[in-house]
Amino acid sequence: MPSEFELIRKYFERAPREIRPGDRRTRRVALGIGDDAALLRPSAGMELAVSTDLLLEGTHFRAGADARKLGHKALAVNLSDMAAMGAAPRWATLALALPAANEAWLEGFARGFFALADRFGVELIGGDTTRVAPPGRIVICITILGEVPINLALFRAGARPGDDIWVSGELGGAALALEQPGHAATARRLDEPEPRVELGERLRGLASAAIDVSDGFAQDLGHILERSGVGAVVEYAALPRPLEVASTEDGKLQARLVLSGGDDYELLFTAPPAHRSELAALSAELKLPLSRVGAIQGAEAKLQVLDGQGKPMRVGRGFDHFAA
Ligand code: ADP
Ligand code: MG
Repeated sequence: MPSEFELIRKYFERAPREIRPGDRRTRRVALGIGDDAALLRPSAGMELAVSTDLLLEGTHFRAGADARKLGHKALAVNLSDMAAMGAAPRWATLALALPAANEAWLEGFARGFFALADRFGVELIGGDTTRVAPPGRIVICITILGEVPINLALFRAGARPGDDIWVSGELGGAALALEQPGHAATARRLDEPEPRVELGERLRGLASAAIDVSDGFAQDLGHILERSGVGAVVEYAALPRPLEVASTEDGKLQARLVLSGGDDYELLFTAPPAHRSELAALSAELKLPLSRVGAIQGAEAKLQVLDGQGKPMRVGRGFDHFAA
């Protein structure tokens, strides 16, 4: 059985030759995996954005989940946090607790992880690997570091009365996949979400506040409202949803998927109406739908969702790990 060190070298330490000459990454890391700490070379004029996410087998993913998809998702949820800050992702660390040194699992995980990391120029610079006593659960913890020009990061606290409320892509697909497994299109939304990294970076200077939709639209918008000290009115019919969700005949189920379904990793942001045409142009350029779904109103952190007749709807809460 290979040692911990051999496994790290084999699956996570990539030879410098795998980074193409002239690749900008070569200048961003002075020292990567293999020593007691990595050394980073942040660019001048940038702030570092740092975020950590932990995925626990049985809680965030089911036992026996496909390792490649896990490698993708574990990194994708972290990239999504960078996007929500308007930061460009640069570096990541990876901590793994595993009940066994399953090489097929490690190979698949590394493949999914690096395929996504390479798309966004993220370099794995270190981590930790430890064994949990069998039959323990797999724990995956990634810390991501990104760069954002000083004073241009996007916060939850910046929404102002009169701002439009926008959401990228579609909502409810991942939640439908959890509820009704077996549809390929929605399963992909749940297992292999696409982090909106480019959108996040391009929203600098356009959006007044931003968050990624991990726990459900209503709950995540609630975070913006609380942090910003404002209220919101949202039109339910304007919320974008995939065909599989839109064709759900049970109206209550559909409302729950769209308003409270988690795991979509779309960006939810606010922007002054003066930026509408720029956002429409950005949407066309990125080939990513951006839907205007409501407006910020008032100074009380209250969310009103109106149905097609303009009547207020009851909105359930999104996911909360510690909810009773
Ligand atoms: P230490 O004893 O100082 O914790 P380790 O032996 O755990 O060092 O790690 C050796 C090197 O391998 C370090 O550079 C560490 O960052 C890296 N490393 C360990 N586990 C991982 C992992 N899962 N992914 C990426 N790098 C890792
Ligand atoms: Mg260690």
